Amino acid sequence: LVALTDVNKHFGDLHVLKDINLSIDQGEVVVVIGPSGSGKSTLCRAINRLEPIDSGSIMLDGQPLPSEGKALAKLRADVGMVFQSFNLFAHKTILQNVTLGPTKVRRQGKSEAEQKARALLDRVGVGAQADKYPAQLSGGQQQRVAIARALAMDPKVMLFDEPTSALDPEMIKEVLDVMVDLAGQSMTMVVVTHEMGFARRAANRVVFMADGQIVEEAEPEKFFTDPQTKRAQDFLSKIL
Ligand code: ATP
Ligand code: MG
Repeated sequence: LVALTDVNKHFGDLHVLKDINLSIDQGEVVVVIGPSGSGKSTLCRAINRLEPIDSGSIMLDGQPLPSEGKALAKLRADVGMVFQSFNLFAHKTILQNVTLGPTKVRRQGKSEAEQKARALLDRVGVGAQADKYPAQLSGGQQQRVAIARALAMDPKVMLFDEPTSALDPEMIKEVLDVMVDLAGQSMTMVVVTHEMGFARRAANRVVFMADGQIVEEAEPEKFFTDPQTKRAQDFLSKIL
């Protein structure tokens, strides 16, 4: 579904993505881990073209990523993204946050969009908050709204960049549970996280990045118990 071939990206002199090759199948859940600065966020951002790449190609569903115009807006809808900071619109209600994209980008009617938004908010456990504003919700609730907002666009793939790292411990589980659910419903997902529990429960594959490269790829159990490279062994010894 998503195919990166020989992708390179620089920020000035800094070579942040080095010959990245990665294919993600329909329904696959890929967890990306690695040290700070290794290029994980840049990789995610490249997949929905928040960052243009210098060379190589990224294909979604057999098509190269568009770079502008309506096609780019559609790409951003097809590739849902959830960040560490929830990025909800502060002056819109929870319901409006979720219906905005579908009505503007997908041209859904208001009542259809609202009906669907309420169902999604129920699904992630915040249905009762629909008419409140983001600041009235806990961090965990806001992050679940952010997930619902991305899902409202019927994305082909969902990208999560450290979705729980800004949350208090008691809120992490409620967000991870929603993500595990989503994985169980065959959503294609790329998840940057150091939550090993999530990787073990939901991931088909762990991709370990260091210094802009993919250093190792394996099934979670294999990766966590028997990492093959010294880089991965050193990294795991620090976080486990
Ligand atoms: P973290 O775990 O801290 O989130 P990361 O693996 O997500 O790290 P990236 O955010 O992808 O790493 O950054 C990779 C490198 O690129 C870092 O050295 C970072 O400082 C640099 N970088 C990222 N974005 C920019 C930018 N817009 N301009 C210049 N340098 C950048
Ligand atoms: Mg990052």
